[in-house]
Amino acid sequence: MTHRLRLAAGSLLFLAIAAFGQSGAAPAVTVIRAGSLIDGKSDQPLRDRVIVIRGNRIESVSDAANAKIPAGATVIDLSKETVLPGLIDSHTHIFLQGEDPAHGGYDVNILTAPLALRAARATVSVRRALEQGFTTLRDVETEGAGYGDIGIKQAIEAGYIPGPRLFVSTRAISTTGGYMLEGYAPELDMPKGAQIVDGPVEARKAAREQLDHGADWIKVYMTHRSWVGKNGELVSQPTLTVEELRAIVDETHGWGKKVACHAYGGIGLHRALDGGCDSIEHGLDLDDAAIAQMLKQGTWYVPTLSAYYYDWGPADSPSGQRDRLRAAVHEPSFKKALKAGVKIVFGTDMGGIPWTDPIAQEFSRMVDFGMPPMDAIQSATSRAATMLDMEGKLGVIAPGAFADIIALHGDPLHNIKELENVQFVMKDGGVFRGK
Ligand SMILES: [Zn+2]
Repeated sequence: MTHRLRLAAGSLLFLAIAAFGQSGAAPAVTVIRAGSLIDGKSDQPLRDRVIVIRGNRIESVSDAANAKIPAGATVIDLSKETVLPGLIDSHTHIFLQGEDPAHGGYDVNILTAPLALRAARATVSVRRALEQGFTTLRDVETEGAGYGDIGIKQAIEAGYIPGPRLFVSTRAISTTGGYMLEGYAPELDMPKGAQIVDGPVEARKAAREQLDHGADWIKVYMTHRSWVGKNGELVSQPTLTVEELRAIVDETHGWGKKVACHAYGGIGLHRALDGGCDSIEHGLDLDDAAIAQMLKQGTWYVPTLSAYYYDWGPADSPSGQRDRLRAAVHEPSFKKALKAGVKIVFGTDMGGIPWTDPIAQEFSRMVDFGMPPMDAIQSATSRAATMLDMEGKLGVIAPGAFADIIALHGDPLHNIKELENVQFVMKDGGVFRGK
């Protein structure tokens, strides 16, 4: 109950600040005293820094010893805390809730939940993300909730509900036979969790529609079903052809936007790279040729490790064996990409994972698989911001950046799990949680 009250108070404060920001008065000046500052860019933390925030932007960052505190500034003392830029999760689904397979799973959500219910739940998803210090999400499709992500984004931007900055991709694109709902009588025309296209003309048209309605990114499924092959390997069904994907990429790049491609491995992964995808999502089974091509083309890699440890089928069932194999090949894939210097960006697949679970658990997986803690933090701050074309504006604590700032008690470079205990959250210069 106390927890709930505290959150309610935080939300009110957030709304009050959002309202004040629109009143036209001189922008408020806030000063944060940071005991340890991980600024998102530097290789080492900085000790005892003073951050001056004017309105929603960071004005200066200086050594506490010779910092000038502007008259009338509100001072927030985080001198015992570690201060970081607001975190970025680059692979989420705010319209999914980790639907339990034992209770009908994915299909029941689409078949029985009114859109208003899905929107209400998405409102809670985005608040949970913000509470945990994730001030930006790239949400990679609504799973049958149409353009609902545009509405949630508008509600956040207008101050109706608290939530992170959203980069949204609306409906996503796959092919006939390339997405749920499936397994029903062929006579039934079932709704699909993605926009289905066949042929380059339909592919380009779908991208145009989604971009026209406000998609910030286009999401494409380049593989769909997966199973254990006859030699014990992971096989993934490819979906779009290179020609279909090229039409989408060409259209999207023309709008100055990027294409995120779900791809596990094999033919679909290679088509994704040949077709010019900007980011590979999941990349469970990257072979050496794929890694070389990603390096050459500057492709981003969003591995989403944690999601593949959820909802395993029984060990003696084909789906259960497939689930175990997915996780088993993912680890060496991630390690090879890390060693080769592929640009790895933090993403979780939250929504596939219940929003009640810690988003920051992904950091522990990355570090367990050999990524240095500072590298893992940068994958969720400055590197993610670069992928989102927000370099210098998000993911850093530096002059000119948006004032998205979080803090926690411990040292995440010593124990990465500390990132699961964020106690202070500022977004856009407004305190959402904490002091
Ligand atoms: Zn996903």
